[in-house]
Amino acid sequence: CGIVGYVGERDCTEVLLDALSKLEYRGYDSAGIAVFEKDRIMVEKSKGELKNLREKINKEHKPDGHCGIGHTRWATHGEPSDINSHPHGSKRVSIVHNGIIENYKDIKNFLIGKGYTFISETDTETVAKLLDYYYEGDPVEAIIKTLNDIRGAYALGILFKDFPDRIFAVRKDSPLIIGVGEEENFIASDVPAILKYTRKYYLLEENEIATIKSDRIEFCNIHREPITKEVQVSNLDM
Ligand code: GLU
Repeated sequence: CGIVGYVGERDCTEVLLDALSKLEYRGYDSAGIAVFEKDRIMVEKSKGELKNLREKINKEHKPDGHCGIGHTRWATHGEPSDINSHPHGSKRVSIVHNGIIENYKDIKNFLIGKGYTFISETDTETVAKLLDYYYEGDPVEAIIKTLNDIRGAYALGILFKDFPDRIFAVRKDSPLIIGVGEEENFIASDVPAILKYTRKYYLLEENEIATIKSDRIEFCNIHREPITKEVQVSNLDM
């Protein structure tokens, strides 16, 4: 299973599919992407191999944009299916997730009580809808409130509809790195996904929140205090 994300001038859909293919070794049963077309989030997902997703995209619609997230899923909650594939979300939020949310049933019941409906059987959809519930115009605030409620393991790539020029990312007990390019940036579960584009990256530590635009990456902690991080340089041969 793996997570990727891209913001920059390139064809986002192509970068996401390419980067996901470099994470295939991690194993997966379905794949999906969410890409901004102007200010609309276009989601494409499919059970099975990445080539199924590629075929579906070629047949139906290839999202045309410059900011997006991608996922390969290793199902833990809900069978492998198109509906359970990531990204998950609402009209305002779209997320990809690696890991397991231990208290998802409590969150789901809470949200159902607030009028939310669920279309998948995943633990991930509860996180997407909890972000939506807490969102009042400030993505980082919604993420912090959500992190305070969820328990378990997660690497998350997040898009907020109101902010089509950026990706938000956070992790705990699942891997995630932030790739640093020239006027373009990335997220990925592992360095090989982005090596074709850059060797520079940041290691995201537990519950650090990253806001990633093409020309700027910002980090803060769960108390919203800014963090400065050191760029790493990969010497992997690939
Ligand atoms: N628990 C989530 C699901 O079953 C994410 C699985 C993964 O890490 O790919 O959809």
